[in-house]
Amino acid sequence: MIQSKVIEHSAITSFRKKLDSPLTKKPITVLQINLGKRCNLACTHCHVEASPKRTEELSPEVCNQLIELIHKFPQIQVVDLTGGAPEMLYGFKPLVEAARSEGKQVIVRSNLTIYFEEGFGDIPDYCARHHLRIVASLPCYLEDNVDKMRGAGVYDASIHALQWLNRLGYGTDSNLMLDLVYNPQIPNSGKFSLTPNQVGLEHDYKVFLQDHFGVCFNNLFTITNLPVGRTKFHLEHKKLYKPYLHFLESHFNSGTVDHLMCRDELSIDYLGHVYDCDFNQMANLPAKTREGETLTVAKLLEAGTLDLIQEIQTASYCYGCTAGCGSSCGGALI
Ligand code: SF4
Ligand code: SF4
Repeated sequence: MIQSKVIEHSAITSFRKKLDSPLTKKPITVLQINLGKRCNLACTHCHVEASPKRTEELSPEVCNQLIELIHKFPQIQVVDLTGGAPEMLYGFKPLVEAARSEGKQVIVRSNLTIYFEEGFGDIPDYCARHHLRIVASLPCYLEDNVDKMRGAGVYDASIHALQWLNRLGYGTDSNLMLDLVYNPQIPNSGKFSLTPNQVGLEHDYKVFLQDHFGVCFNNLFTITNLPVGRTKFHLEHKKLYKPYLHFLESHFNSGTVDHLMCRDELSIDYLGHVYDCDFNQMANLPAKTREGETLTVAKLLEAGTLDLIQEIQTASYCYGCTAGCGSSCGGALI
């Protein structure tokens, strides 16, 4: 694990300048939909700033436009549903069923504990019946660290949920993929670290969870904390925001750039606005066409194409995706 102590820093190089050429879009293959901000948890690192108190969610109108988009564009291979807790937000099941009827892979980004909330006990069976790929947060394999980040009792509930999913065939049946997500602790001092090696950590997770709870899963994705949302507030509060950006910039790895998740995805918010990724969505940095226009799902339908964006919008937090082995919703990039 690479570590660094806080030092005095000069200005941060703009991410755009750091690249040899503008970051361009490839043909779109992934549609990531953020269904809204309501969640049964309120984790300390949440870049969405989700919580049970939030009310924002997809409307029936935008949901219908998204369903039309899914049917209209065979080039969309993956529909990736996130939130908040996507399972508790309007549009979850209609979007799943539209995408699966077209044979697309559907990913649901789950916090696992939602299965134990009133009215959501059918979700594990539903996911298995529709062959959804579950990507579940478990920021550590040790109880203490998980409960500190996500709330008391979350680790215990997550383990019970994983055992439930295993009983349904998740983690062993090739149609029922179950992946876990590791997030490092948010820095509290100037001693920053990059995420540990994904392969080594996956091995440690697998051994620990199997030995202690009989739990199995497919892949571990290691994700760097980007300074967006609650992570940014926390770092600012501790006067660590700029030092953390410097740390990320100092580990910039140009080999990650070709694999960044924003290259071939569209990220859609609950209002139907289009972004290059979920982080840009939370930072309110919309995607733009060659002509500098912002986009909505309705405009994409009207234009009859998904490939209207030439250059991806970037900001200093993009250094989080390009540090070390890189980071994305699918884990390390190289
Ligand atoms: S990190 Fe995930 S589970 Fe935690 S509050 Fe945010 S959306 Fe909910
Ligand atoms: S935050 Fe990451 S995924 Fe988003 S635009 Fe920047 S580099 Fe791309």
